[in-house]
Amino acid sequence: MPHKLDLGDLDASFSGRLLTDPSDLAPFLTDWRRKWTGRAQAVAQPDTTDDVAAIVRWCAARGVPMVPQGGNTSLSGGSVPDQSGAALVLSLVRLNRIRSVDPQNNTLVAEAGCLLSEVQRCAADAGRLFGLSLAAEGSCTIGGNLATNAGGTATLLYGNAREQCLGIEVVTPAGEVWNGLKALRKNNTGYDLRDIYIGAEGTLGVITAAVLRLHPKPGGRALGFVALESLPQANALLDISRNRVSNRLSAFELVSETCLGSVLRHHPAQRHPLARRYPWYALIEVSDVEGFEQASLALNRLLQDASERDIVCDGVIADSLGQVSALWALRENISEAQGREGPTIKHDIALPISSIPGFVESTMATIAQRWPSIRLFIFGHLGDGNLHYNASPAPGMDHTAFLMLEPELNQFVHDAVYAANGSISAEHGLGVLRREEAARYATPIELELQRAIKRALDPHNIMNPGKVIFPGFAGGSLS
Ligand SMILES: Cc1cc2nc3c(=O)[nH]c(=O)nc-3n(C[C@H](O)[C@H](O)[C@H](O)COP(=O)(O)OP(=O)(O)OC[C@H]3O[C@@H](n4cnc5c(N)ncnc54)[C@H](O)[C@@H]3O)c2cc1C
Repeated sequence: MPHKLDLGDLDASFSGRLLTDPSDLAPFLTDWRRKWTGRAQAVAQPDTTDDVAAIVRWCAARGVPMVPQGGNTSLSGGSVPDQSGAALVLSLVRLNRIRSVDPQNNTLVAEAGCLLSEVQRCAADAGRLFGLSLAAEGSCTIGGNLATNAGGTATLLYGNAREQCLGIEVVTPAGEVWNGLKALRKNNTGYDLRDIYIGAEGTLGVITAAVLRLHPKPGGRALGFVALESLPQANALLDISRNRVSNRLSAFELVSETCLGSVLRHHPAQRHPLARRYPWYALIEVSDVEGFEQASLALNRLLQDASERDIVCDGVIADSLGQVSALWALRENISEAQGREGPTIKHDIALPISSIPGFVESTMATIAQRWPSIRLFIFGHLGDGNLHYNASPAPGMDHTAFLMLEPELNQFVHDAVYAANGSISAEHGLGVLRREEAARYATPIELELQRAIKRALDPHNIMNPGKVIFPGFAGGSLS
């Protein structure tokens, strides 16, 4: 059992909220997927950057490990404490002010606890667009987005969280404040500290604010939903789309028939947009600063071109905002629908786009042969080379027997990903879910460089210990 701390002696400069009642702590201790539940001494909710610094100094002085947390939507168990009960959860949700908006510089400064949807709204109010978009945007925070280097559905056009950020403010594990809030697009003054903290999943310091890059608001967007017989056709369509509309292509999402069937089964109000079923579908979005007419014309032309080359079998273009939402819902409801089919085994993989058809064909064939009771749910951001390669039990398969296959199936899928020079975590990070596997696939030099960074920036291993870096962290010890 950890030594019970006297929270009453917290530095007087901490003016935020401190939760210690077990019933108040509960929502902060279990992750969004309900896969991991930990214990903690308390949850601190700072109101300002100085508050964060005060609580971090207090923890550092006592060797108390800290778990930074935003919206707690992590899909890899990074945002909740372990079972030891030693940690303090540092919830950033009250640090939620938009500090400034500069439309001429196309930037906005947001505090870490701002919801992603709130950042998008503030950008829109200023006549601009913030380009990060994901299904959890009403719950996740910009600090969490940066800490996980989140991707989402608009990465194709605007990049992932790292590319949307020009500067950050960080509280170090010693409780010092680094103000790196520079709203600059060029700044070559030594090592890029910002990039070290982005994607570090709270293991190196606490992000307290960020300068975010804004874009012109598109005048209109056109969305198409098309049917494909095969993945080589999907790649050919992506090729044509890139060539024809170039940087106006704002989304290219892949959906398998298994995924669509599941969404329609669990959401009876949603309709199949086409007259018959096909093995694969793609959602294609074209954005244009001029307006909907131009976007729609470009999308029509590219689909006509693809159809003349026998690449697309059938398709629809949304002609109302209602239809746009209905088509996007078919994609966005996949995870939830899959969850209703029983337990899931999930893989968030990245591959060179050109190798995706071969990868999927060969892995599907092996899985069908070795584990015939598994159903694959394959979908995702094909335009970014990022697939969600998920598995569910076929009807009638025992759920416990299915879950026992997880280590074997993970190893099979991830070995194939590495053989194809891919990545076993495209956008969800490592957290606790993938830390061991990542260490297994990393080269010794990669591992040593990563551990060296951790040792240098968090020598006493008090920032989100046990996440990302594993095994064999050789820094200080937990108290
Ligand atoms: C329905 C759903 C859809 C999703 N879709 C996508 C998607 O399309 N693309 C994608 O990339 N992800 C997706 N995710 C995963 C998740 O939303 C993102 O990882 C998100 O960016 C996490 O933000 P958060 O505020 O919830 O962070 P949390 O879950 O609270 O934390 C995530 C990690 O960041 C650390 N952290 C949080 N805040 C800070 C901070 N201020 N400073 C330092 N470290 C911090 C935590 O310690 C933890 O390791 C999805 C999740 C859900 C539930």
